[in-house]
Amino acid sequence: MSRAKGELPPVPEPLPHPVADTHTHLDISTGARLPLAEKDLPPEYEAEQDADAPALPDVDEFRSRALASGVTRAVQIGCELPSARWTAQLVAGDDSGWLVGGGALHPNEAPRLAAAGLLEDALSEIDRLVAGPRMRVVGETGLDYFRTGDEGRPAQEESFRAHIEIAKRRGLALQIHDREAHADVLRVLDDAGAPDRVILHCFSGDAAFAAECAARGFYMSFAGNITFKNAEPLRQALREVPDELLLLETDAPFLTPVPYRGAPGGSYLTALTARAAAAVRGEELEALCRRAWHNAETAIGGW
Ligand SMILES: [Zn+2]
Ligand SMILES: [Zn+2]
Repeated sequence: MSRAKGELPPVPEPLPHPVADTHTHLDISTGARLPLAEKDLPPEYEAEQDADAPALPDVDEFRSRALASGVTRAVQIGCELPSARWTAQLVAGDDSGWLVGGGALHPNEAPRLAAAGLLEDALSEIDRLVAGPRMRVVGETGLDYFRTGDEGRPAQEESFRAHIEIAKRRGLALQIHDREAHADVLRVLDDAGAPDRVILHCFSGDAAFAAECAARGFYMSFAGNITFKNAEPLRQALREVPDELLLLETDAPFLTPVPYRGAPGGSYLTALTARAAAAVRGEELEALCRRAWHNAETAIGGW
């Protein structure tokens, strides 16, 4: 590929029906906030971080690219306190109809805050922030057993349970980050009682786990990693998802779809993921987009 390192992939051909990107991190994409910590970056993104990288695009650039590719709605997720503050402020001032927001303490952030004695106060602030204008989502919360070891699990679960409570009390959608913790995510949700609208963001389970989620009426949101070569179990899960529970997202700047894997992404690349998802499910692209659009409206609660 002749693209410069760190450069955004080109805008794909527009989709035949608009879709929503239900999970993106504009704070990271624009450089307004750094990722949680260097070690939280997926290896494919780390490779792009160097001094020669071009200046990062702003929110307007990401919005215009998204509108040009048919990604006419997006959900900005701030997943630690400063990002959640940034998100609440951004979406409160954005009446373009493109963006709504969500906030939470990421499961990898919870043990750090707990160790510093700051978890309770941070949760109270999240509770206030998600009550703001155009804030629709409590997330991403959940469990991450990949980045956090055994010692961090109690704090992750405490934080997860607190977010479930906030989502239920405020009537908001709950977006879940589940990394190598499928059984415990279901255990906690079953035990605490799930909110009406639960979304497994960046779904990472297999077909059996998709069936468990479907039985509970949980939405499953698929990102660009469905295009990765080693993701066959994920593609099998995608084939099993009932029509009414399917969502699309980018998790940008991460998980940029093939053939741009490793480059920073943006919501506009949901267009590539939608095409890949239609191919995997053997569906007509327009029908899949139409369904993902309506599911996003129901799951997120309007823009
Ligand atoms: Zn996540
Ligand atoms: Zn995310």
